[in-house]
Formats: sequence, C-alpha cells, structure tokens
Amino acid sequence: MGSPIDHSLSPIIHNSFAAQHDLSIKYDKIFADEKIFDDVFASFISSGGIGANITSPLKEYVFAKFSNLTDRCRHANSVNTLTCKDKKLILADNTDGIGFIRDIGNNNIPITNKNILILGAGGAARGILRPILGLSPKKVSIANRTKPRAVELVNYFKVWGKVRYVSYRELRAKRFDVIINATSSGLYGELPSLPDRFSADETYCYDMNYGNAAKPFVSWASANNALQIVDGLGMLVEQAAESFWVWNNLKVNTDIVIKDLRNTQLANA
Ligand code: NDP
Repeated sequence: MGSPIDHSLSPIIHNSFAAQHDLSIKYDKIFADEKIFDDVFASFISSGGIGANITSPLKEYVFAKFSNLTDRCRHANSVNTLTCKDKKLILADNTDGIGFIRDIGNNNIPITNKNILILGAGGAARGILRPILGLSPKKVSIANRTKPRAVELVNYFKVWGKVRYVSYRELRAKRFDVIINATSSGLYGELPSLPDRFSADETYCYDMNYGNAAKPFVSWASANNALQIVDGLGMLVEQAAESFWVWNNLKVNTDIVIKDLRNTQLANA
C-alpha cells in the first residue's frame, strides 16, 4: 500500500516466494495516500487481508496509527509490515533493518569495528541504525542536508554505540570503510553533495536505492574506484522475505529471486 505504488516490485517478489512453497496467495498493489489510508486499510481487513506492506513515503504516517509495535518498528519510527491475523490486534513491524543486514552479509560487507558513513537521515537511515549498531562498528557518522534531522538520530541512537553528525563539507578529508547511501536523491537523478574526488579505493559503497535511482551514487562510487559497489535490490528482496516469514512462517530462497530481478532489469535496460 502506498502512493506512488505502480513502481513496486513487491507483488513479483512475494509471488516468487509463494511459488517456492506451492502456496496460493493474493498480493496486490493498493493505492493509498494519507487521505484515504484509514478507509483503504479497514476495507482490506474486512475483506480478509492478513498482511500489508507499506511503501515510502507513507511509512512514518502509518507508524503513528498503531500502538502494537515490535521493537524494531519502534526504533525505526516507521512501518513497512502490518500483520492482521487477529482483526482486532494489528501488529506493526519494520523489516527494512534486517533486510539490510542480511544483504550486506550476503555481499560480505564488514561492519564490526569499521568506520561507517550513512548519507541521509530519513526513514531508511533510521531503520538501519539500530541493527548496524548491534554489529559493533567502530563509529557511525551521519551526513544529511538538513542537519537537525541527523542530530535527532544521533541523540536517539547514541545509547547503542558511537554515532555522530558530519557535514557534507567535512567529508573530503575523511576516510570510511563503508559508505551507505540512504538518501532519496537518486529518485530525482541527483547525487548528495559528495566531494568529486574522494579516496574510496578501500571503501565499500552501498546504495539503498536500486534501478535508475541507484545510478548517480553508483557512478560516483565507480568514478572514485570503490572497493565494492552494491545497490539496494538485495535489501528489497530480503526485507520482503522477512515479511513473508512473519506472515507465513516460511523461509525462502532469496538468491534466486534477486538473480531473476537483476536479469529482468538487464533485459529491460
Ligand atoms: P525520506 O524521504 O524519509 O528521506 C530522504 C532522505 O534523503 C533525507 O535524508 C533527505 O535529506 C535526503 N535527500 C533527498 N534528496 C537529497 C539531495 N538532493 N541531496 C541530499 N540529500 C537528499 O526517504 P527514505 O529515508 O524513506 O528513503 C530513502 C531512499 O531509500 C529512498 O530512495 C527509498 O526508495 C530507499 N529505500 C530502499 C529500501 C530497500 O529495500 N532497498 C528500503 C527503504 C528505503 P533532508 O533531510 O535534507 O531532506
């Protein structure tokens, strides 16, 4: 559910998961913005819906609507998974963080004892901060165009590890083991204000965006000889796999689904 919703790959992903288990499911894209969310969700529940994913930018709005929250949802301050097995008790969850952690694991990107830079301080950055700090990095720096948003994250998450704000201007003189692009700038074909020439040859660069939206950051990382560059398609599939687990109690093979989506992307390029 969300607005916009047409671009969503989630029905393809969930139907692939269901096929792995010969499970019959119905997973549709449903348009819902802030004005109509309550009515759309109520009608989904009354028609027998058992689970819903919420897509950006509705995730934070929906968070404020539910009080039965998982811990990971509370830390993320946003919802991407609603479970409605009991119509009276909806569980609000967020699987983005675990999806990110699984994908960096799949790609052998190290976090423990490493110097991490996160670009952006919106819902996506917030959703990965607690799981990242759980892996004991040396330090996490957050750069954001709007400083107060980053400072708010620093103040909330600093009890779990060393987190600090860094301005985009300071970045040129710094070195990071891992840079994570959690901004939405790529959706507009833009790059955050990163230095043109940057020593990234020992840096893993991860873009939470995928498809065309990942192009600006991936190009920047490539131009600066990054050690490894990964986009967010794997994270998308991994967060969906966790939702599928929450709803169906079934594990899935994500690798096959990621490969199929990449092949489709290449064929359409
Ligand atoms: P939000 O709208 O909550 O936050 C957007 C962030 O991007 C803010 O920090 C904003 O900065 C920053 N930003 C936007 N444009 C620019 C720009 N031109 N230069 C610098 N910074 C910019 O979005 P989300 O956090 O929810 O999502 C961020 C991205 O992550 C989206 O593109 C989304 O698709 C992707 N995502 C991918 C997932 C996956 O599974 N792969 C899961 C979740 C998200 P400011 O605060 O200054 O406005």
